[in-house]
Amino acid sequence: MIQRDAAARCTLKAPISAVGRGLHSGADVRLTLRPAALNTGIVFRRTDLGVDVAAKFDNVTDTRLCTLISRGDAKIGTIEHLMAALAAAGVDDLIVEVDAPELPVFDGSAAPFLFLIESAGVIEHGGARPVLEILRPVRVEQNGAFAELRPHADGGTGFDISLSIEFAARAIGAQAYHFNLSTAGFADEIARARTFTQRGEIEALRQAGLARGGSLANAVVVDDDKIMNPEGLRYADEFVRHKLLDVIGDLYLAGAPISGRFIGSRTGHALNNQLLRAVYADQANYRLATGALEAPLQLTAA
Ligand SMILES: [Zn+2]
Repeated sequence: MIQRDAAARCTLKAPISAVGRGLHSGADVRLTLRPAALNTGIVFRRTDLGVDVAAKFDNVTDTRLCTLISRGDAKIGTIEHLMAALAAAGVDDLIVEVDAPELPVFDGSAAPFLFLIESAGVIEHGGARPVLEILRPVRVEQNGAFAELRPHADGGTGFDISLSIEFAARAIGAQAYHFNLSTAGFADEIARARTFTQRGEIEALRQAGLARGGSLANAVVVDDDKIMNPEGLRYADEFVRHKLLDVIGDLYLAGAPISGRFIGSRTGHALNNQLLRAVYADQANYRLATGALEAPLQLTAA
């Protein structure tokens, strides 16, 4: 089912749809994942506006609460958890239809998206899968947080991620996690980790008209040393696993799977996006491992 190591490009076998609530609007959003032609890349389509936006780092226009891509006034937010599931499943070409400015949040994790992808099925459909090989260290920093991509050490393969976080809230504290996306562990180790927020932040978001759809059903809510969700945590270190999930999703906006090592501390959507911009700012930083990569990287919109 999962074609992560396929040599050819992959899409879905069949379209699949789901309806879920948007985190910020609180309104229902219809999501359809549609098989796409070779070299389409991942393209988001606002069916209510008739506008397409490629899932590329240079279309990211807001990273404050989620990763949001836009073209003109057509916005599509909260794409990162679906993008993580697509990266893990090895989907290269796909049309993602939504009829609202954000994706459904579902349970705040990538697991529902992975379920949809696996239910539809992933197939190879030809071409050559590109790989973005990191050739020299690239680092971005902000307020003591950093995100870095490095070439593999001898023998390293795939997209290898080491992440640490530190929060004043005692229920989170300091956590670290290491994961290699070329392993089969995404579904068990990463996909189910939910997004999280602190109790004090919720009131501010609500007053700003945001997080209307937010609830204990789609986020872990922390109040210093307490977890407000009655069911508790899915993993003792669910917080760092979720932040690692976000790194996978945000960096899949590179337009190709990454071959290299990510090292980050307290990184978020903004820094993850800055890192990709920094990589692509200098051609000495990277190499496109197959000739087929030129097409998806130059894609601006279908
Ligand atoms: Zn997230």
